[in-house]
Amino acid sequence: MGCTKTSSSWACFAKNERSSSPYPMTDLVEHSFTCPACWATISMLLDFSEGAQTFVEDCEVCCRPLLISFDTKAGELGEFRVRSED
Ligand SMILES: [Zn+2]
Repeated sequence: MGCTKTSSSWACFAKNERSSSPYPMTDLVEHSFTCPACWATISMLLDFSEGAQTFVEDCEVCCRPLLISFDTKAGELGEFRVRSED
């Protein structure tokens, strides 16, 4: 394919990006959001490798359980929702 580290490598990279994620094995993306229980801004690593997910995670500030759900589109965050579990 001739993908060498020359001036053409950027074009090659952009081409690959269309068909698959440039980082297929490391789909952890940091996402910041507001806790619906205490209104603190917290950040969390989301794993995009398995597509849409729903899980419960305790807020790192108020320790209340938060129901988090998100989906992904082409390796990027689609819809993100969070609500207090109680
Ligand atoms: Zn909180």
